[in-house]
Amino acid sequence: MLYSSTRGGDHGLHFRDTVLTGLARDGGLILPDAIPDVSADLGRLSTLRYQDLAFEVMRLFADDIPADDLRALIEKSYATFRAKEVTPLVQVGDIFILELFHGPTFAFKDLALQFLGNLFEYILGQTGGRLNVVAATSGDTGSAAIHGVRGRKGVSIFVLHPDGRVSPVQALQMTSVLDANVHNLAIAGTFDDCQGIVKTLFSDLPFKDKHALGSMNSINWARVLAQVVYYFFGAFRAMERTGAKEVDFTVPTGNFGDVFAGYIAAKMGLPIRRLMLATNENDILDRCFKTGTYALGGVQPTLSPSMDIQVASNFERWLHYHLGEDPAKTAAAMASFKATGSLRIADGPIHDRWLTSGRADTTETLEAIRATWRDHHYLIDPHTAVGVAAAHKAMAAGEPPMVCLSTAHPAKFGAAIIKATGEDLAHHPTLDALRGAETRVTRLPADPAAVADFVAAHA
Ligand SMILES: *Cc1c(COP(=O)(O)O)cnc(C)c1O
Repeated sequence: MLYSSTRGGDHGLHFRDTVLTGLARDGGLILPDAIPDVSADLGRLSTLRYQDLAFEVMRLFADDIPADDLRALIEKSYATFRAKEVTPLVQVGDIFILELFHGPTFAFKDLALQFLGNLFEYILGQTGGRLNVVAATSGDTGSAAIHGVRGRKGVSIFVLHPDGRVSPVQALQMTSVLDANVHNLAIAGTFDDCQGIVKTLFSDLPFKDKHALGSMNSINWARVLAQVVYYFFGAFRAMERTGAKEVDFTVPTGNFGDVFAGYIAAKMGLPIRRLMLATNENDILDRCFKTGTYALGGVQPTLSPSMDIQVASNFERWLHYHLGEDPAKTAAAMASFKATGSLRIADGPIHDRWLTSGRADTTETLEAIRATWRDHHYLIDPHTAVGVAAAHKAMAAGEPPMVCLSTAHPAKFGAAIIKATGEDLAHHPTLDALRGAETRVTRLPADPAAVADFVAAHA
């Protein structure tokens, strides 16, 4: 399998190259040149345990890694999960919840980042190279990336988070990691500032090459790939329990990475009828699908901080398919968006074969947490609740089963649970134990030059 940039500048990359490169050198995102069709093989795939399913899906895209090595990397990556099934599917009233939060940092990002950390160590161990990961986080990516590479040979990590805009637990999950290869940077700005700084560093190619910069943000194709797996796993379990022939998914969305993995699963032939992205008040994507125009707004802090994003970096991947896989068109569209902050994609609602959009505001999110607890004694975190609220608004009788992705453990967002239910219900001993832990963090202005200096000094 070979890979190319959405903007046409890079071609003929192998899977390993895409893992180490992150963003393409022309500023585009990397996509496989073809999407394998597994629709004839669904019966067999549906019987596999999570790790074996992951191997079958990933080997199609990572064919430059020997099969035994890939299997070993997958086993090692999911051995750190607390649930035997890795991503269990539970029925909660009239929806299914796919629990993606049983990894070390209690958010779905562990599914991809435990694997990516192991993959980095494996590839660097063979090439003798070094890698300095630079990542921006709105909360969960940072801790998942840090836990993916802490103490790993050949890799250092610099994580930028918006100072004061991540939850206290999220901050502690990052800053309490004291390994020498981990650097936490608290930036005086928003997540979009952090992401902008990272993009600036990566687009300075001499700097990128000199310091061997690598990415663990969802622009990294290996992350998307690892996430494709649980769509298969969740759809198979939901179909098995209901006898349905297809499923719907609702996906709480920030950077469009998670929902894009579902889009790839659908393209591979998984019987997904509808894939609904759900946003909070930061609704650039919902507005885009409803009006046809992708237009920047301001970032508003909400109860679901990992979705407080306006510029969704993975959107370019979907746009590339939507524009007929023509790199010249994708490059022109992204250039015009960069220049004007707005992009006209359609003259009205966007019609995609799978994707639709929904939105839930803070009131609806709190009500979804409260009602799910009251009626089913099941706690959902505020990100999951955005999806559940949006799903309930969109669902009608007689439709395929609805699988809502649960992206974080409720104990990560205890304040929102108290706000919704009036009770301090969300705890986990591992997270409770973080309070009072020793921490290490460096505060920096929202200035690419300041961050570049820090990276150069510590790389
Ligand atoms: C990152 C994150 C999201 C958003 O995922 P994207 O891939 O950025 O769309 C949603 N919920 C939680 C808890 C997250 O950590």
